[in-house]
Order: sequence, then C-alpha cells, then structure tokens
Amino acid sequence: MALTNNDVMNTVRRLGFDLVGFSKAEKLEKQTNDLTAWLKKNYHAGMKYMERNIDKRNDVSNILDGAKSVISLALNYYYPSQHSISDGKGKVSRYAWGKDYHFVLWDKLDLLEKELKQLDPNFECKSYVDTGPLMDKAWAVKSGIGWLGKHSNVISRTHGSWFFIATIITNCEFEYGAELDDFCGDCTACIDACPTEAIVEDYVVDSNKCISYLTIENKDEIPVEFKSKFDGWIFGCDVCQDVCPWNNKFALISNETEFRTDRNRELDLNSIAEMTNSQFKEEFRFSPINRAKLKGIKRNAEFLEK
Ligand code: SF4
Ligand code: SF4
Repeated sequence: MALTNNDVMNTVRRLGFDLVGFSKAEKLEKQTNDLTAWLKKNYHAGMKYMERNIDKRNDVSNILDGAKSVISLALNYYYPSQHSISDGKGKVSRYAWGKDYHFVLWDKLDLLEKELKQLDPNFECKSYVDTGPLMDKAWAVKSGIGWLGKHSNVISRTHGSWFFIATIITNCEFEYGAELDDFCGDCTACIDACPTEAIVEDYVVDSNKCISYLTIENKDEIPVEFKSKFDGWIFGCDVCQDVCPWNNKFALISNETEFRTDRNRELDLNSIAEMTNSQFKEEFRFSPINRAKLKGIKRNAEFLEK
C-alpha cells in the first residue's frame, strides 16, 4: 500500500522526532539564486564544498532519480542549562554538549527507512543529516516546519530553533505543507547581539565573521580583528539563538537522552593546551567537538587566552 502522511508521522513520532514536514520535490530556483549570490560574495569563506553540486542543490531529482517528495524532520536538542563565563574556560555551543547528533539521527533514520519500506515495498529514499548536496533549511521552510529567521536558522512556532534537521528524498507522494509566514517582524535582536557583526543583512550571515565558522570549519588562523570579540566561545556560538524571543518563549527540553546533558558546556583552556591527540580522541570521539580536531580546538583556546 502507498505510504500516507499519517504512516510517516506516526513512525517518526515513535522514533522520537519532534517535527515533520512534507514538500513536493520541485526545483528550488529562488533559493539556488540566493545561494549563488551568497557564494559570489565569498560568504562561505573556506567551505569550498558549497560551490559544488549546485544542480543537485537546485533539483533533488539529480540526487534520487524519480524523486517526488522531500520529508524534513527536526530533532530538538535543547537542555536547560546556561553557560557560565569564567577565566580559563571556553564556551561550547549547545548542540555540542552531548553525543554527536549525526550518530543519533542516523540511528533513527536507519530504523525509519526500514519501517517505511516494510509499510510500502516501493518506498525508495536518500537521506541526509546536514552533509550532502542538499539545502536542508530551505526544504524545512518549504514544508512548513518553520520559517527562516534573520539569523538564518529555521524557527518553529512550537519549538524555537534548537533543533537538528534531517532530510529524506523519496519517490513517494504525499500531501504537502505550506510555508509559514515570517514571524521575525521588526525584531533585530540577533543582528544587534552578534558579537562580530556577522549577520550582514537580514537572513544573510557572512561566515568569514561568524564565530561558529571561525571556531569549527575554519582551518586557518583566526584573524586578529576578532580579538576580544569572541565572547568566550571556544567551539561554535549561540548568541543569535540565545537572544531570540522564540527560543526564550518556546524552547522545550529535548526528549532525547543523548542531548539531556551539559557535560561539555565549557572546556578548560589549560587542559586543552596540554591535551595529546590520544586524549582528545578518547574524550571527544563521539562528540561534535571532534569536528574541529585537536589542532583547531588548541588554536581556539590560544586565541581566547592571548
Ligand atoms: S553564531 Fe554567533 S557569530 Fe555567528 S551569526 Fe550567530 S551570533 Fe553571530
Ligand atoms: S532574534 Fe528576532 S530577528 Fe532574529 S531570528 Fe529571532 S525573531 Fe527573528
């Protein structure tokens, strides 16, 4: 039997996802034009992989032959603990306090794919968790999960923006959601609060200035112009989401046990400076912090200390 929206919604809820939305697998012409303009301005900084596979980002049928729909899933990671600023410590973005979300989401997606295939043997799919040539935020917005905030994260009216997104391209057809209105209104809290003025215009972040990029994906030295502007961040940055009224009103505690922790909320700068590669692997093998490698984390710690 052909899958229905209810089949998918029941299964994803049982697996612990918080939000689900369905989109028709149409070309994303406007979003691709916006992406191309953003790339032209070099706002992707060192993330050169973003220049590749534009045809796939525009049209998911270049990823999955016969694609009919895109399913967007959200998994809330909010845990109610607050950063403390103290000498000798560096702050870690909320999403990295617990287990690496890729592991958590992939386990759920594997189960989901198997269960949907059992319900409909014709179900074919290709799934992504933020890697891959796919505009996951654009699909989440198109499906009605949330709208794109001026800080360029997706915001849900029921959950705020503290969630991970997974995306499934499939050959099955569904009833599709509608885009929400933009509920940012006149608010500019994220733009005003950004420590490095990285939100250069509404909905546009220049990665060259963004602490998240500079402390994680960036492989080079951190430019001296940002000295004393880092607000104590050693891995990522939450400022634009921390100040967002939608998070202050609607953030809900994650149901996922792997995210119900503040274990890595701050890192000790001296410990990082003295850490060996094997200690780093042991400590962060299953943490998103592993993404920056020991070299990157040491660079960030030195940048905060100097
Ligand atoms: S993550 Fe931090 S640096 Fe980047 S845009 Fe948001 S507030 Fe600015
Ligand atoms: S802080 Fe205000 S402007 Fe920024 S994303 Fe949230 S609601 Fe929108």
